[in-house]
Amino acid sequence: MKTEINLHDEWDREHLWHPYTSTINPLPTYKVDSACGAVLRLADGTELIDGMSSWWCACHGYNHPRLNAAVERQLHSMSHVMFGGLTHEPALRLGRLLLGMAPDNMHNIFYADSGSVAVEVAMKMAVQAAISRTADHRRTNFVTIRSGYHGDTWNAMSVCDPVTGMHQAFGSALPVRYFVPQPRSRFGGEWQQADIEPLREVLDTRGHEIAALILEPIVQGAGGMWFYHPEYLRQAVKLCRDRGIYVIFDEIATGFWRTGRCFAWEHAGVKPDIMCVGKGLTGGYMTMSAVLTTAEVADTISRGEAGVLMHGPTFMANPLACAVAAESLTLLREQDMAAVVGHMESRMRELLAPAATLPGVTDVRVLGSIGVVETRRPVDVGEFQKLCVAKGVWIRPFGRNVYIMPPYVVSDGQLERLCAALLELVEQTAC
Ligand SMILES: *Cc1c(COP(=O)(O)O)cnc(C)c1O
Repeated sequence: MKTEINLHDEWDREHLWHPYTSTINPLPTYKVDSACGAVLRLADGTELIDGMSSWWCACHGYNHPRLNAAVERQLHSMSHVMFGGLTHEPALRLGRLLLGMAPDNMHNIFYADSGSVAVEVAMKMAVQAAISRTADHRRTNFVTIRSGYHGDTWNAMSVCDPVTGMHQAFGSALPVRYFVPQPRSRFGGEWQQADIEPLREVLDTRGHEIAALILEPIVQGAGGMWFYHPEYLRQAVKLCRDRGIYVIFDEIATGFWRTGRCFAWEHAGVKPDIMCVGKGLTGGYMTMSAVLTTAEVADTISRGEAGVLMHGPTFMANPLACAVAAESLTLLREQDMAAVVGHMESRMRELLAPAATLPGVTDVRVLGSIGVVETRRPVDVGEFQKLCVAKGVWIRPFGRNVYIMPPYVVSDGQLERLCAALLELVEQTAC
């Protein structure tokens, strides 16, 4: 009964928009008072083991003493200064750490405000560089794979899956992109050469219009929680390179060890021309993203018509965000993250495996610290979350995917409780 109080915060219902939530018939929201480690504490004292890392970002869990201290230290020197004509130590420190983790062809860093904005910036980079290099003003389009998710701003949305991204809701306002089918060869499964053919065809017939291929390497996140074969990336990158088309890897969800490697491209060993990072970058403390690119792309843009990259947000390289991000990356560097995530992976494989025998379940897959149970029918989120809260866990399913990617600080016991609750709830709601 206690949680019922949280369900009816009338003012919130009446006035605050929540993500993808109706104002007429909103799903319940639960009021959080504090969070620590892998636990969210609700206003009524209920404690929930967090399976979502607040949508991939809180990788070190909540209220981390080192991250708190980094923000506080920075707060006492300055919270923000403009980045036009000024620079500062947190931006430098973060930049050096980031380049040290990124593919070795990355050379220039653009700090942006959020994942979606990073995708906008990456797309703008690709167009400016493509036009500058080819002197062809028609090289402005993009190709991507279906079931992707790249964010909610205009251009980011245009390369999201046209069905789950609800393109029809925006009519002709959205730029029209080239879509190829999602690769069906599974990660860890057998490679089927037919997977790459649709991309080859689009590049052969439409390549002259295309500035870049954009995709999420290895793991498609919000668009379908699908793990695909690294060979797709290897062949896709080669096809693009052969045709002078840039490749953008959106590592916003996959970055910072989520897939068991520091970045997902490492599973395939092929490097992008442009790479977006976000979400876990600040350890989930505040919004910030970065776009990394090669010296070739950066200099080609600078040799182009505008002579500069045409983007420069007010809060670019916000010192508070840079300081906490640098500390978050330092925390990752201090740990044997391959072992930390490898352990989570083997535990989740074992704990989620029994779901495969449930009648309402069509697939179970685990990669790195991401566990997915795919159901036959879409899950009722409101009902599912109500049951979650009653069981002391926090999981937010999307469509037919019930998935978890807990903070790396989750204990074995917490992970066991999380997975056990997930299994029971899937059985209860989807079978
Ligand atoms: C979440 C996400 C984005 C958008 O990031 P925001 O910070 O929500 O704007 C872009 N790409 C991928 C792969 C994501 O998972």
